[in-house]
Amino acid sequence: MSASDEVGRPDVVVVGAGVIGLTTAAVLAEAGLRVRVDAERLPGATTSAAAGATWGPFMIGPEDRVAAWAATSLAVFEELAAGQEETGVAVIEGTHQSMTPTEPPRWAVSAGVRPCTAAELRPGYVTGWRRRSPVVDMPRYLAWLERRFTHAGGRVRAHAYRSLAETAQEAPVVVNCSGVGAATLVPDPGVTPVRGQVVVVRHGGALREFFGDDTPDAPELTYAFPHGDTAVLGGTAQRGDATLEPSPAVSEAILHRCRAVLPELRGAEVLGTRVGLRPAREAVRLETARVAGADGADGAVLVHNYGHGGAGVTVSWGCAAEVLDLVKQAGIPGH
Ligand SMILES: Cc1cc2nc3c(=O)[nH]c(=O)nc-3n(C[C@H](O)[C@H](O)[C@H](O)COP(=O)(O)OP(=O)(O)OC[C@H]3O[C@@H](n4cnc5c(N)ncnc54)[C@H](O)[C@@H]3O)c2cc1C
Repeated sequence: MSASDEVGRPDVVVVGAGVIGLTTAAVLAEAGLRVRVDAERLPGATTSAAAGATWGPFMIGPEDRVAAWAATSLAVFEELAAGQEETGVAVIEGTHQSMTPTEPPRWAVSAGVRPCTAAELRPGYVTGWRRRSPVVDMPRYLAWLERRFTHAGGRVRAHAYRSLAETAQEAPVVVNCSGVGAATLVPDPGVTPVRGQVVVVRHGGALREFFGDDTPDAPELTYAFPHGDTAVLGGTAQRGDATLEPSPAVSEAILHRCRAVLPELRGAEVLGTRVGLRPAREAVRLETARVAGADGADGAVLVHNYGHGGAGVTVSWGCAAEVLDLVKQAGIPGH
C-alpha cells in the first residue's frame, strides 16, 4: 500500500510547497478536489519564505500574462489585508526612488502612483514615486496559506521526486510548482537560480513605510519592507549562484546600504538572515503537458507552473486561477 492509498488517492498532486505550490493547492482544494502537496522543502524552508515581499513584477515575463496574473493577485492581497494578524498581509504606503532621472515602470503607473515631493526624497535621490502596496510577511503568510489549504482538506507531505515520471503514479493530475527545482526535475535548462539574501531586523516601529531603490542599473539592490516592528532589508540578485549558506559580508553590506539611506534603521537589532533562489526563466511556464508513467505505467496530466523569477508572490493567485481552469479543462475522473 502506498502512502497515497492510506488517505485515499488524491485527484491532484502538487509538487512544491512554496508560495506557488501552496496557493495553487489551496485554490484546487477549495474547488472541491482532493489535493496533496509533495515537497522536498516544507514551506518555511523555501525560497518563498525568504522573499521581502511586496506586490510588483520584477525579473518575470511575459509582460501581458504577468499583468493579468498580477492584477488578479492584487485584488486578493487587498482582501487578505483585512485579516492582517492572521495572514501577514498589510497594505501600506512606500516609495521607489532613483539616483538618476527615470520614469516609473508601466506596471507601477497602472497600479496608481504619484511623484514624490522634494521633501520625500532621501539624500542622494533625484526622483521617485509613491504608492500603496501590499507587503507580505512571508513566513506568517505561508503558515496561513498552509492552514487554509489543510482546512480545505489538503495534506502536505515531505517528499522529494527524482523525476516527473515518478509523480505520474501518484494522481491523475500533477501540478509542477517546483520553482528552481524545475531545472533538474523537468529538466529545464532555461531555469536559472538568482540568489537573494536579506537581513531581518527589529526596528520597533521606526520604519513606517517601505522603500525601494529603483535607480536603473544600480550595482546593488537596496530595499526595506516593514512588517509591524520587524523589517526585511535587502538585497542581492546573484545570477547563477545557488549557495544557500548566508554570507556575513553580504549581510553587513546590506545593513550598511539600508542604514545609509534610512537612518531610522541605525538602532535596529539584527534578528537573522534569509537566502532564497529566485527561479528565473525567460517566461513563466504555465501550460498543460502530459507525463508518461515509469516503466510503461499509465501517465498523468501534467500542468507546469514554474519560473516566476522575482515575482512569484505578485502573480501567485492569478497563476493558481489559471491552473484551476487548465485542470478543469483536462477533466478529473469522478468530477
Ligand atoms: C530575497 C528575495 C526577495 C524576493 N522578493 C519578492 C517580492 O517582493 N515579491 C515577489 O512577488 N517575489 C519576490 N521574490 C521572488 C519569489 O520569492 C519567488 O518568485 C517565489 O518564491 C517562487 O515560488 P515557488 O513556489 O515557485 O518556489 P519555491 O518557494 O522555491 O518553492 C519550490 C518548492 O518546490 C519544491 N521542490 C523543488 N524540486 C522538488 C522535487 N524534485 N521534489 C519535490 N519538491 C521539489 C521545493 O522543495 C519547494 O517546496 C523574492 C525572492 C527572493 C529570494
